[in-house]
This record gives sequence, C-alpha cells and structure tokens, in this order.
Amino acid sequence: MKFNFEDSVMYVKGVGPARAKALESLNIRTMYDLLTHYPRSYEDQRNITPIAHARIDEQVVLVGRLSNISFHTARNLKILNAILSDASGSIQITWFNQEYLLKKLHDGTRLMVIGKVKVNSWSGVLSVNQINSFAILEPNEEISLGIKPVYASTAALNQSVFRVAIKNLLAKMPPIPEILPAELIREMDLMSLDAAIRAIHFPASEAELAQSRRRLAFDELFLIQCGLMLIKRQSRDEQLGIICKKNGALVNKLLTSLPFKLTGDQSKTFATVAQDMESKFPMRRLIQGDVGSGKTIIAMLALVKAVENGYQGAMMTPTEILANQHYETFTKMLSGLGIKVGLLSAKVTRSKKLREEIYNQISGGELDIVIGTHALLQEGVNFAKLGLIITDEQHRFGVAQRAALGKKSAVVPDMIVMTATPIPRTMTLTIYGDLDVSLIKEMPPGRKPVKTSVKTIRSRKTVYEFVKAEIEQGRQAYVVCPLIERSESEKLNYIDPAEEIYQQLSRGIFKNIPCALIHGKMKSADKDEIMTRFRDGEIKLLVSTTVIEVGVDVPNATVMVIENAERFGLSQLHQLRGRVGRGSEKSYCILISNSNQGDARARLDLMESTADGFELAEEDLKLRGPGEFFGESQHGLPDLKVANVFRDLHTLIEARNAAEKFITNSADLDYFNRLRQNLALAYGDKFKQINEA
Ligand code: ADP
Ligand code: MG
Repeated sequence: MKFNFEDSVMYVKGVGPARAKALESLNIRTMYDLLTHYPRSYEDQRNITPIAHARIDEQVVLVGRLSNISFHTARNLKILNAILSDASGSIQITWFNQEYLLKKLHDGTRLMVIGKVKVNSWSGVLSVNQINSFAILEPNEEISLGIKPVYASTAALNQSVFRVAIKNLLAKMPPIPEILPAELIREMDLMSLDAAIRAIHFPASEAELAQSRRRLAFDELFLIQCGLMLIKRQSRDEQLGIICKKNGALVNKLLTSLPFKLTGDQSKTFATVAQDMESKFPMRRLIQGDVGSGKTIIAMLALVKAVENGYQGAMMTPTEILANQHYETFTKMLSGLGIKVGLLSAKVTRSKKLREEIYNQISGGELDIVIGTHALLQEGVNFAKLGLIITDEQHRFGVAQRAALGKKSAVVPDMIVMTATPIPRTMTLTIYGDLDVSLIKEMPPGRKPVKTSVKTIRSRKTVYEFVKAEIEQGRQAYVVCPLIERSESEKLNYIDPAEEIYQQLSRGIFKNIPCALIHGKMKSADKDEIMTRFRDGEIKLLVSTTVIEVGVDVPNATVMVIENAERFGLSQLHQLRGRVGRGSEKSYCILISNSNQGDARARLDLMESTADGFELAEEDLKLRGPGEFFGESQHGLPDLKVANVFRDLHTLIEARNAAEKFITNSADLDYFNRLRQNLALAYGDKFKQINEA
C-alpha cells in the first residue's frame, strides 16, 4: 500500500472522526501535520522515585497504590486528596477541580503520577499537588519508562491521544526520504531526517534528542538561508546592475566641504558603498548605526556619487518631518554643487498642479535627488534614470517590499537600507539575509552619553521642576506619551494621554513657557509647523506621542521625559532617547513608570544601565518575540517549528555558511528546483518569489 503524508489524519490508528475533528482545531488535518506536530516539551520518566525519597520542589515520577481518597471544597476549590504508597513509604496526592476523578479512583487503584512535591499551604502536609500528568495502571501493566513527549493540546485531547497516535503513525510509516545532499549531512555530522523525526517524538536519551533537534533546526534554517541566497543570486545573475566610476569631482567636493571629519566607521562604510556601486552587481546593503552615528552623510555621499554618474537618486523616509529635515540638509549642502534636490511630500501630492510639476521633473530627469515619504511609491512617480534608492529608518520593510521599490526604474538600481534600530545578529541573518551589512559603531567625537533614570509617578513633580530648570537655562525638552486620548477601556489603566498631560503641564508648572502638543493624528502641515518652531527654539517644551521617534535632530533639546515608560519596548525607548544628547550639553532621559511589577521595572532598569542599542534589542526580542519587535507580522520570518533564533544561533551560523557554499558551488538546477519545492512545502508562500522564479 502506498503511504501518502497528505492523507487524512484519520488513517492513523487511534484517530477516529471525533479526534480528527478535535485535531483540526490545532490545524492538524493530514498525517504530515501530525508528524510535524513536534513536542512542546518532554517529561523525564526514565526513573521511578521511591516515594520515601521524594523531596520538596523536586519533579518526581511515583508509582504506587491509592488509599484514603477524600473530597472537600475549600475557598471555591474542589480538592481531592489521596494517599499513594509503595514499598518505601507514602505521600499525599492532591488534585484540584477534578471532581470527575472520584468515579475513576478507588482504594487500591494502581497509579503513576508525575509532578512536583510541595507543602500544602493549608494543611502543612507534604503533597504532590502540582501534577503534570498521571495514569491509572492495570494491576499487571508494565510501566513504560523513557523521555515522554508533551504536545501542545486542547482540553478535548489528552497527551496519551498524541503519544499513541504518533507512535502508531511512526510504526506504519516508511522511512522518510532524505532532503539534504549526502555530502552535506556527512560534513555537518547530521542525523538522518528519518531518525530525527522519530527521535524528536520519542528520544531514547537526551543526547539523541539534542541531535534530532539540531538536525531539524538545521533543515529549517538551511532552507531559509538557501531561499535568501537564491534571491540574492537571482538579483546578481539575472539582473546586472549599473556600474559607477571611481569617486569624482562632486563626491570629493562634498567631502572637503563637510564641517567635520568623517569618523573611521563612516569612512569605512562609504568606501564599501562606493565599491558596491562601482561593481557590476546591484548593491543591496543594510547600514546599521545607532541614533546619531551619522548615517545621513553616508546617504548623501552615495546619492551624490549616483548623480555624478548620470543617475537620479531617491531617499525614502517613514515620516514627513524626517523627509523635510533631510530635504533641508540636502539643499543646504548640495545646491552649491549644482545638484537639484526635490521633496515629494503629502503637501505636494495633495495639489494636482504641484504634483504634476514634480512628477514631470522626476520623469524628465530635471531633479537629481528626490526625498520623500511613501508618496515615492505612488503610481505616477516614474524616474528617468533611477540609479540608487535609499530607505531611511524603514526596518519594517520586508524582502518583497524592497523588491517592489526596485521596479521603479528601467535599470536595476542600487539599494541601501539604513536603520538605527539595532537589529540583532540573529535577525540580520534571517530577515535581512539577502542584504550585505555595514555597521557604524563609532559615534562622532564629543558625544556625551544620555543620563537615564527611572522614576515612579510619585517623583513626577520633582522631575518636572528639573525640566523647568533646564528650560530656564536655555534648553528645550520633550515629553513623550504612549497614547493620544483616553479610550473607555483605558480609563482604568491610569494612562495619561498626551492631550491630558499637555493641558496639565502647559497650564500648571510650565504656564509661562511656550509649550506645544504634537501627535500622529494631526495634519502633517500642522506637525511640520510645530516641529519647525521647536527646532528654531521658539517652542521650549514639546509634548508628543511617538511621532518624534525617528531621525529628527534638535541639538538644543537636552531633556526627554517619557510617561508610562513601561508601555514602550526597549528598542523604542532607546530610539526616543536618541532624540536628546545630540548637542554638546549634558542630556537626560527620565522614564516615569507607575508599574512596579517586577518584570516591567527590571526592563526599565536595563535602560539605566546600558546605552548599547544592540543589547536592548536582543532583550526586547527575547521578551516580545520578532513579531512585536518588527510590528505586526511584517517581519517576514517564516514560522519556525524547531529552530529558535536565539538558542540556535550556532546552528543558524552553520546553516548560513552551508547555504552560502551550497548555492555558490552547486550548478545543479534540478537540485535547486527540488530545494525550492521543499521550501514551498515547509514554508508555504513565504518564499513565493522563489517558487515563481
Ligand atoms: P543618524 O545616524 O541618527 O541618522 P545623523 O546622520 O542625523 O545621525 O547625524 C547626527 C548628527 O551628527 C548630525 O547633526 C550630523 O551633522 C552630525 N555628524 C555626523 N557625522 C559627524 C562627524 N563625523 N563628526 C561630527 N558630527 C557628525
Ligand atoms: Mg537618520
């Protein structure tokens, strides 16, 4: 009989219509689904503890006979107690809210129980009251010892349903064919796929489990890496990029006209960028550098290089404010070089006349550099000769979106992604695996670290008195709040929205000081006006939501107060903090939090102790996962079943290297195609581009 993994799970012995239905709620429909429903954890049931040896807080496996079964209700809890005895001694077993067991348990019932020994708080008796699992045994039943899988489940399905069904499936299943090249398996010293899938469910030992996890994690990571490399290879082999000449007069003029010397990292990064642009391959480069590390100048140099080679350049920003700021900086520095810079903002695109004018200037090649927001992606925008695209602070852009941007040009443009969000190495190896990475670690000279402190709501008054003193000395301050207005459901959560805080501050302690409020729901013209007035020093205190999160540069602002700081992610707090400390004066970031919950507080304390954005980002990622970190599900990471990009960093790097070697060395197209199919099988349409290729 032919065995087909795509057949219904009902073909598995032990799964009938009712269980199949219950499995459906876990997205398990086929035998393949069941096979790859890997255990969530394991229970060590290799050794039975003699009852007399059970110690407090120890996880134990006990086997004995029951007596003294009793049942009572206390404080809304239904409590079932019994005594379990073996040859060595006795112990109490306690079940909560499982009244139905009364019918199943009797004096003399033979029972195996796995759980933790605790002291019952109300009776002071030693008891197994944290029960992981238990099984009623037949009088002569042989106890099967081993490492037992624990599966993600629902109330309708207990663990033994999974254990039995998967055991039956594995028994009937022919060996799973290998998907990796034999040579790679040998070289990486990997377990066979068949052995790994069997062992992940029923490992014979910890070592075997580790081997099987490594194999399956390697597969997942290797396939992803191959996918990313294929994208890269495609863009290299199938599309030749533009070739720029060595740095010419314009670039050199700009370099000499800079009011400062480039830092070592800046020079190095621009040298790499220039090299990329001079090669025949399209540049795909990620430039990472903490806030204030001076990425803008790299962008400007690269754009000027594109211009002096006869191409246009575009720079895309997430906000209007940032687009405006870049536009001003660029015009100031580049008009002397005869370079024409244009701004494509919402204001421009709203007016039909202005819009058509700038669209014409773009398509006619009159503008050399265009700076704008997402407006750049609109349909009417067609460049005459777009040679370089830079996205600033757009780390939420996925692989596919980057590809879409590239389609704006008749030639294959070079691309730079710039971000201050410190993207942990694990992420650059996955989501950004199609990009080369440059790091700017060095800060321009003279920067002082921002002094950060965490305060409770009780110190609020003192905090604002301090802010006032700073303002009176000529500085400016930001107050950042998580929400604009209070929604019904948040009234109970003590959230002080920006609006309220603004009212409170501007009427109270800052009554005689020019204050303003800025938030994301305002019209962009209004936002721009306020930002401009703040930058010009007219407004002293700016209450805002996170609209100021990225890129804006006001060196005279030296204090930032963040209200309800526990509401923000660490990376976000670090970004916000980067808005101050951009001048020569000492700067402060004060985090106000009314949450004293251990975790929240510990998280914020980390802000005090480190200025390292990477460390904070890793922490964020650990706490909140990649989805949260990158916003919704835009991170574009395929769901991983076994691999964990933190725990398996080592395997990730191995997989990365292996994929690199494999893709560059292998000319076997059949093999690529099979890999693609495996990718599609394992990851659905996440790699659609590859499947379509
Ligand atoms: P970010 O990397 O956050 O985008 P910017 O490019 O906005 O940083 O630079 C922050 C500030 O540092 C700007 O005012 C810029 O003029 C200044 N700056 C950049 N590079 C240098 C340098 N090498 N020496 C001194 N100041 C610099
Ligand atoms: Mg910037």
